[in-house]
Amino acid sequence: MRVVTRFAPSPTGMLHIGGARTALFNYLFAKRFGGRFLLRIEDTDHERSTPEATAAILDAMNWLGLTPDELPVMQSKQASRHAAVAHEMVARGTAFRCYVSADELQARRDLGEEKRVAARAEGLGETERASLLAEAGALLAPFRSPWRNGGSPPSPDAPYTVRLRAPDGGDRIVEDGVQGTVKVHASEIDDLVLLRTDNTPTYMLAVVVDDHDMGVTHVIRGDDHLRNTFRQIPIYQAMGWDVPEFSHLPMIHGNDGAKLSKRHGALSTTVYRDLGYLPEGMKAYLLRLGWSHGDQEIFTEDEAIRLFDLGGINKSPARLDLEKLGTVNAHFIREADNDRLFDLLQPFLAQEGPLDPVTSARVRQALPFLKDRGATLVELAAAFRFLRVARPLELSKNAKKAISAEGLARLGGLLPELRNTATWTTASISETITTYCTATGLSMGQIGPPLRAALTGGLPAPDLAPVMDWLGRDETFGRIEDQLQTGAG
Ligand code: GLU
Repeated sequence: MRVVTRFAPSPTGMLHIGGARTALFNYLFAKRFGGRFLLRIEDTDHERSTPEATAAILDAMNWLGLTPDELPVMQSKQASRHAAVAHEMVARGTAFRCYVSADELQARRDLGEEKRVAARAEGLGETERASLLAEAGALLAPFRSPWRNGGSPPSPDAPYTVRLRAPDGGDRIVEDGVQGTVKVHASEIDDLVLLRTDNTPTYMLAVVVDDHDMGVTHVIRGDDHLRNTFRQIPIYQAMGWDVPEFSHLPMIHGNDGAKLSKRHGALSTTVYRDLGYLPEGMKAYLLRLGWSHGDQEIFTEDEAIRLFDLGGINKSPARLDLEKLGTVNAHFIREADNDRLFDLLQPFLAQEGPLDPVTSARVRQALPFLKDRGATLVELAAAFRFLRVARPLELSKNAKKAISAEGLARLGGLLPELRNTATWTTASISETITTYCTATGLSMGQIGPPLRAALTGGLPAPDLAPVMDWLGRDETFGRIEDQLQTGAG
């Protein structure tokens, strides 16, 4: 099957996570069939589109690794092509020039409203009310232009819009890849404006022409565009073009089932980068947000490409679940290559203060052993605090308790043994502690708490032998000495 998909965001703000999910699904579907994934920036609305928003969209897609297979198409650059298509449709007789002005249209709507209000008046006879309602209905119904069957212009230079002749009657049916069979009666479709009086194309025309010109075979987008499909298909048909397959994705809701809004969590995709999520974690989570394959929760990108299908997309809205995102992200942090993870951690480590080269080396050494200590890079960066705190360490309440007179005596006994440890490795440090315990008759439960308190101040940390290994001899001895001195003083 030949597959070309596209993501077509309007650059009017950030790329929200619903958009990122749409982009991902288009990307996966194209890759699944060895096809192409394209990007079109729909900047026809000059007033609301900004270069900053375009840059933000590209940044987010780049972060997620959703690289399009060709340079992005800027829709506004195609305006003359859009206009040419509209004029060709006029020549073919599938579109027409309409001389009804915007003011006349407004007057028609106003009159419709008036009649609707008038129909509610008290004391009206049933027939009178019915006829007012019928008139209101006709005036407020999707507009069918009096010029749809041609006619000579009111004056030679009268301004006109170009409108598509809407289908005349019957049901219009779309077989949607997600929603199934969707039906709309032709009377619900208006004679759609294709070109405004200033010859600029409307959005509805631009989308269709661009999708055709880009060779798009499958349109996968949010279900807020489902109804537009019924207005867009007649444009393809009027030009004799192949109609792509359409699939409309249900919205994303908050965890309370309400429409997604700011209070449900960050909406901008790149905010998740700043919160410390990995792109592959984000992608794997977005994939499951509205798509499933059995009960598998976590997919690598290769698996996703192999398995993604439109049939696995749920028909009902998905719910954003930040806890689940955390679980998925934690998995990808554990799986991540250590060097890459170390690089990704830098900005988050820097947020807690500058890292000198010695501490940085400690972090690098400890990283492989601490990867399961955070669902985000923010949490993970915090897990290295015990390596970074400056001497003398401030002790937590529990740590203070552990540094009792007894505790100090044990530390005092252990320190010279540690100093005598010939090679400084986790194994030899461990051995020194075991030997000391055996010689003195102490258990690990007796030496562990004061030692942990001295080394970490009570901050979360893993086993003590590796902790001492990462801290290095001098820092280890220094931290223990600090306690011995304070205790003695
Ligand atoms: N530009 C539209 C939007 O951002 C998408 C149009 C489409 O996918 O057909 O909602």
